[in-house]
Amino acid sequence: MAVQFTTTQKQRLIELDAPADKLAACFGSQEERNQGFATLQDELITKNKALLQSLRDGLGRPLLRQMETQLALALVEAGFVEVVTPATLAKEALYRMGIDETHPLWKQIFWLEDGRCLRPMLAPNLYALLSRLGKLWPAPIRIFEVGSCYRKESKGSCHLSEFTMLNLVELGLENSPEQRLQELIALVMAKVGLEYQLVSEESEVYGQTVDVLIAGDLEAASGTWGPHPLDEKWGITESWVGVGFGLERLTMVKGGFGQIRRVGRSLIYLDGARLNL
Ligand code: ATP
Ligand code: MG
Repeated sequence: MAVQFTTTQKQRLIELDAPADKLAACFGSQEERNQGFATLQDELITKNKALLQSLRDGLGRPLLRQMETQLALALVEAGFVEVVTPATLAKEALYRMGIDETHPLWKQIFWLEDGRCLRPMLAPNLYALLSRLGKLWPAPIRIFEVGSCYRKESKGSCHLSEFTMLNLVELGLENSPEQRLQELIALVMAKVGLEYQLVSEESEVYGQTVDVLIAGDLEAASGTWGPHPLDEKWGITESWVGVGFGLERLTMVKGGFGQIRRVGRSLIYLDGARLNL
């Protein structure tokens, strides 16, 4: 009879980022299985320790933060200006994005006092800034923000309730929005250094969107363009493109990790490594 790892053993091995095929290993007896567990645990502990050591000996900054810096510099080089906006939103800003009580995202919002919430996305703040900067600067206006977004999530290995979005927008386009969106996605993905595919999707918020898929079918970003019906509420009249990348998803795939929580904000993981070794 084939013996598999116990639930507790599996849990420990998942914590240490054991690959799926090793988790599913079968043994001839309980003794062999326990021996197999001890050996694999040792290997994985060594690997996690090596990761932490290379963080300390190397650049001293987690992969996520390095990626954030490289992407910010590449965007500035491409004529974008970085903006920094509040992590909280008024309920009104969600309504203006077309997100109300009937929208699926509504149930994922973390509410604060006075009808404010933690931002589930950067788009409302970027819309607000575009509308103001549009009155001050000649087109094209190119801005981006990198910051935490918050959503109540029930799904496992690719969702965090606090994650880092990089959202860029360009207002006042010279060419077709679809073409410009593809160019900007290519610019970011070349810096990240991952292969990707583009897929057209229908989004509840924006209508037509283009998703960037990595590692098969993991969504790393969603992009869209206007003129769009929501624009009027924000006082936007020119054509635009925008795309939001999830930096933890990019980091997870780039770093070869099995679960997103390894690279997210954490007290038990640091730069992909487990800390209770
Ligand atoms: P999904 O369908 O995978 O839940 P989404 O389409 O709801 O994602 P968007 O609103 O398009 O997500 O957000 C843009 C990007 O932000 C996504 O492509 C993804 O990379 C990232 N992202 C969204 N939600 C999360 C989350 N809970 N944890 C980590 N990254 C996320
Ligand atoms: Mg999406």
